[in-house]
Order: sequence, then C-alpha cells, then structure tokens
Amino acid sequence: MVSHEMINIIYLKKMSNTFVIGICFIILISSLFYADQVAYAHFVEPKKGDICPICGMSVSEHPLWVAVIMFSDGKHVKLHGPKSMFTYYFNLEKYDKKYKMQNVSTMHVTEYFTEKHIKAQEAHYVIESNIHGPMGAELIPLKDRTSAEAFTKEHGGNILLFKDITPEIVNSLKNIVSDNLPTRQ
Ligand SMILES: [Zn+2]
Repeated sequence: MVSHEMINIIYLKKMSNTFVIGICFIILISSLFYADQVAYAHFVEPKKGDICPICGMSVSEHPLWVAVIMFSDGKHVKLHGPKSMFTYYFNLEKYDKKYKMQNVSTMHVTEYFTEKHIKAQEAHYVIESNIHGPMGAELIPLKDRTSAEAFTKEHGGNILLFKDITPEIVNSLKNIVSDNLPTRQ
C-alpha cells in the first residue's frame, strides 16, 4: 500500500519538475526577447555611396559627423550629422510610415573630441557654437558635461541634453548663416 507520505513525495517531485520546466521556459522566452532587443542596437559604419536622406550629402565623406538611427527590426538609417538625425527622428513617419519613435532601438552620434560613436541619448549637445558642419550650424555631440564645457569655453554655444532638444530648436539651426565660420568637414 502506498502511504500518504509517498504520494506527497511523488506529488512534490512532479510539481517541482513542472516548476523547473516552467522556469526554463520563461528564461528561454525572455532570452529570445532580449536577444531581439539587443541584436539591433549597434552602430553601422557608412559605406561609400550612402546618401543622407535629409540633405542628400555623402555620409561616408564626413566621418566626423556620422549619425545612425537603428530600429528594433534591424533597419537603420545613416545620416550625415546630428542635425539631419534629429530632423529624421522628429519626422519618422514622413520618411517611413512603418516606424514610430518607440521602434527606435538606438541612435549613435560621433563625439567631437574623441571621434568615437556614442549613444545619442547619452550625449550632451552644444548648439550655436562657432563650429559648423558641412550643412551649416550643427548640434555638436560631446560625451559628458566636462567635455561640453571645455568645448563651449573655446567655441561658445549652449549645452543641451538629448531630452531638451525639440523640433523647434533643430529648425532654428537651419536659419543660421555659416559665412566665415570654421567648418569641420
Ligand atoms: Zn544630412
């Protein structure tokens, strides 16, 4: 005869097996989801012939200004500078109806001093400085506040965070005339 204790042990074993399988399943699903999230979050090096969708300039010819918007499905857009990147970002549906801001997985910009590609959301931006890009006034990406202050000391301008940047600010830069200003190609 099987005792109550035996039944309890068998029952507990069965339960714990189900539990372990359940946990494994959750880990598997969440890792797949996570892999999908992080797989498409990298910078993409521009190739010869890549054209900025905003201004039509060659992206690879201006490596010090390159910006890339990456969507969660892997589609990415290479832009020739932060001003073009923000213009695209604020008008996503105008350029591709499939995408909204929540579909953007990462954006990268090229940092002014180090010339490295950094996350756009983590950068500081200087506007209205005396350094202009190939398309005139720009938002100059700096990796942190210290770098941004060092930059403004030399070149003037105002420091903004990613979240402070609005379509109005980006549009206002389009009206600034670049005559006789140092242009960084
Ligand atoms: Zn452009």
